[in-house]
Amino acid sequence: MDRIVIVGAGHAGCQLAFSLRACGYQGEITLVNGEDTLPYHRPPLSKAYLKTGREEELLLRGESAFAENQIQLCRNTAQDIDRTRCELRMATGRPLPYDHLVLATGTVTRRLQVPNGDQGVYYLKNVTDAQALRAALPTTKRVAVIGAGFIGLEFAAFAADAGKSVSVIDLADRVMARTASHEISAFFEKRHSQAGVRFRFSRKIVDVVRKEGTVCGLLLDGEELIEADLIVAGIGVIANSKLAEVSGLETDNGIVVDRYLTTSDSCISAIGDCTRFPTEYASHPVRLESVQNANDQARSVAEKLTGKKQPYTAVPWFWSDQGADKLQIAGLTGASDCHVMRGLPEHNKFSVFNFHEGRLVAVESVNQPADHMVARRLIAAGTRVDQALAADASFQLKTLIQ
Ligand SMILES: Cc1cc2nc3c(=O)[nH]c(=O)nc-3n(C[C@H](O)[C@H](O)[C@H](O)COP(=O)(O)OP(=O)(O)OC[C@H]3O[C@@H](n4cnc5c(N)ncnc54)[C@H](O)[C@@H]3O)c2cc1C
Repeated sequence: MDRIVIVGAGHAGCQLAFSLRACGYQGEITLVNGEDTLPYHRPPLSKAYLKTGREEELLLRGESAFAENQIQLCRNTAQDIDRTRCELRMATGRPLPYDHLVLATGTVTRRLQVPNGDQGVYYLKNVTDAQALRAALPTTKRVAVIGAGFIGLEFAAFAADAGKSVSVIDLADRVMARTASHEISAFFEKRHSQAGVRFRFSRKIVDVVRKEGTVCGLLLDGEELIEADLIVAGIGVIANSKLAEVSGLETDNGIVVDRYLTTSDSCISAIGDCTRFPTEYASHPVRLESVQNANDQARSVAEKLTGKKQPYTAVPWFWSDQGADKLQIAGLTGASDCHVMRGLPEHNKFSVFNFHEGRLVAVESVNQPADHMVARRLIAAGTRVDQALAADASFQLKTLIQ
């Protein structure tokens, strides 16, 4: 295989390019970068970068690393794929021929749909968004955050710490309702409230209110007005599968891939946030938004393309830093039917063990990195964990690892 082309230079695409070299691949690698910057870490955009503004700390790799590894960074946007000729067509310039193509196109921001439109509403997806927020913050007094998911809460914690008056509004009845257990939601709601954040749950945004063109608040159902001079929406993302769709690949809330991360065309793989893939950790194919998944899928495809084909089986894990607290999740919480607490929320250090039909499926840890690390290994090995032992904080979980 002489030419591998990767579309998207985020976590997944960039990791793949370097993993291919680490696996000994000697052919051409072209990494199509749709953004104007060198590839960068996204998680700090809602965390440290808001404070420091240090862009050099965001870079995934220094500029010289691309040249040293003979990875051609190509600033362009891929528009469609001629699958018969095996060519990628770009917004500008000549088509790029490939022997294998990898789509790592990530996600696009879900935008607020309200009658007056979302003009003046901030989002937090890329470095330009984060720069705009940093520029707006010094003159801001009141912040309204739409969405009590990871990004909304991380931003709310930062804004409250910076002395802003912060309100968080969500359609759901608790924080992180889509991904976290009730125990974790209760803990984080309390911690954010203690930091001064005010929550409005089970509430719908009716419209954005402006005075002489400037945002001044949010109108909620029940005619409640939340006054705000800065509105940030963290209402999720949508798989960026446009390129796959226009090229006739199978998509269904993401680019559909098999256990080897191959799309419906055997010459095209897909990795990262844009994929929907089968996993032994869920009863149905899933699409995950995490750095772990992007990196591990990239490594798996690098191995496949260099002759070590294995199904993708990595245990999903995720983290979120909210104020002084770190949440880490190993496994997928979706299917759990029983929760066991290990440690006490009052001590700001505990884990919630999620079981499904007696089997450990996920562990949510707050300020307990050791529990998280053990949990990843227990879930990967499919170790049977006794619920009473899981609840006993004096029991050394690592003794269960074979
Ligand atoms: C603010 C923020 C905080 C986060 N915090 C965490 C966290 O704490 N922990 C965690 O695990 N995850 C976190 N995430 C999620 C994590 O960043 C994503 O899961 C990860 O970036 C996915 O990597 P990816 O390469 O699949 O997609 P992306 O990083 O989204 O990269 C996709 C790239 O493809 C490019 N692209 C798309 N279409 C084309 C095209 N046609 N041509 C050329 N280029 C194209 C895009 O411009 C983009 O650069 C966070 C995300 C955000 C936005």
